[in-house]
Amino acid sequence: MKKIVVLGGGESGIGAAVLAKTKNFDVFLSDKGKIKNEYKQILEKYKIDFEENQHTENKILNADEVIKSPGIPDKAPIAVKVKEQGINIISEIEFAGRYCNAKKICITGSNGKTTTTTLIHFLLKNAGINVGLAGNIGKSFAMQVATENYDYYVLELSSFQLDGMYEFKADIAVLLNITPDHLDRYDYRIENYARSKFRILQNMNDEDCFIFCADDEVTMTHIEKIVSKAKMLPFSQKTTVLQGANIEDNLLLTKIGNNIFSISVDDLSLKGMHNIYNSMAAAITGKVLDIKNDTIRQSLSTFQGVEHRLEFVMSVGGIKFINDSKATNVNSVWYALDSINGKIVWIAGGTDKGNDYSEILELVKQKVSAIVCLGVDNTKIISFFKDVVPVIVETRSAKDAVEKSYELAESGSAVLLSPACASFDLFENYEDRGKQFKQAVRNL
Ligand code: ADP
Repeated sequence: MKKIVVLGGGESGIGAAVLAKTKNFDVFLSDKGKIKNEYKQILEKYKIDFEENQHTENKILNADEVIKSPGIPDKAPIAVKVKEQGINIISEIEFAGRYCNAKKICITGSNGKTTTTTLIHFLLKNAGINVGLAGNIGKSFAMQVATENYDYYVLELSSFQLDGMYEFKADIAVLLNITPDHLDRYDYRIENYARSKFRILQNMNDEDCFIFCADDEVTMTHIEKIVSKAKMLPFSQKTTVLQGANIEDNLLLTKIGNNIFSISVDDLSLKGMHNIYNSMAAAITGKVLDIKNDTIRQSLSTFQGVEHRLEFVMSVGGIKFINDSKATNVNSVWYALDSINGKIVWIAGGTDKGNDYSEILELVKQKVSAIVCLGVDNTKIISFFKDVVPVIVETRSAKDAVEKSYELAESGSAVLLSPACASFDLFENYEDRGKQFKQAVRNL
């Protein structure tokens, strides 16, 4: 019996182990840390052999194939050893793809994946399609392949997942943008990171579609270097495209063959330039799938957005509070600042991932009246902006940050939590940071 070892006992690893077990493989799951109780219960229910707080090498190196969770870097000692033994390492998505005949719509990019994946899923559901939502979001793809029966999947794929994908084929692939993120796992080279994102295209044939942003420099540089049979469907807010989507007279216009769809930009429920891109990607997908214009229009104008992404919390004393806790890199902060009219008190900081703030310097100069730092070590933010922003204060809790911002903001302005950093210095994760922020706002 073929032996499958799953490395990592999180959402993706548990799903992979369950699917492997239901396909009658000999399965062993190993996690160097603790496995959550709810996951252990699933492993026990399916009678899957597992270990936690250790990696027993002779058991792992005995595998015919290893499924590695995306959180484990290629350079982790155990992954290196597996590779040295010549054992195949794949991702959970690759594994699940082998057992899934459903059509797959796959979304990747540095920013906007969750928003666009959720929006496209919403659109397909509104069109009455039997569709699942998976990947980097909610219940793992493998678990759903093991236990559900969908005709379509909308999958959010991170570069780490794409790295372990070889034979997998998307029917529709969406690449939103490529800006520096996670470079620590790509030898600090944007080319390597971009190559990983472009794996979403592999194995596609001439019936498949590749949807991408023609305004994105890194994407456009790389696209010249690749050969693909897939239909190319760009979207742009700067130029006119023959096929794909662009803006004309404040209309989002989508052209697929002779088939045209349009919606006024003002009618899109998701606001901001970045969200116009996300809506364009969804509109193209809708047209490719031949979804009725009415359904696309209704979906794009009623989608409620995803928590912690430019989420309007409430107004207090004429000041708008916006929760963008998921903005963990500088590029997403750029879009947040750009989307707000008027003055902004900006709450920023946390664990720095090698940020270069020059990209947002101009916007900060124009719009930000005060910075409220929310992190353990704020020196980088303070030294970068001290000559640009008149007031910079430091706080170490969401409550303090909200109360300070409220003091500093004038009526008519906005308080924006858009940290540009990871949250692990003061919070469990970005969701925890966003929730604490919202609670503090409600308590004002
Ligand atoms: P991801 O899943 O790729 O991290 P999210 O949809 O969770 O993306 O959004 C992450 C952050 O990026 C949020 O602050 C959001 O407002 C911002 N964002 C969303 N779409 C885009 C886009 N197309 N380009 C740049 N930033 C975006």
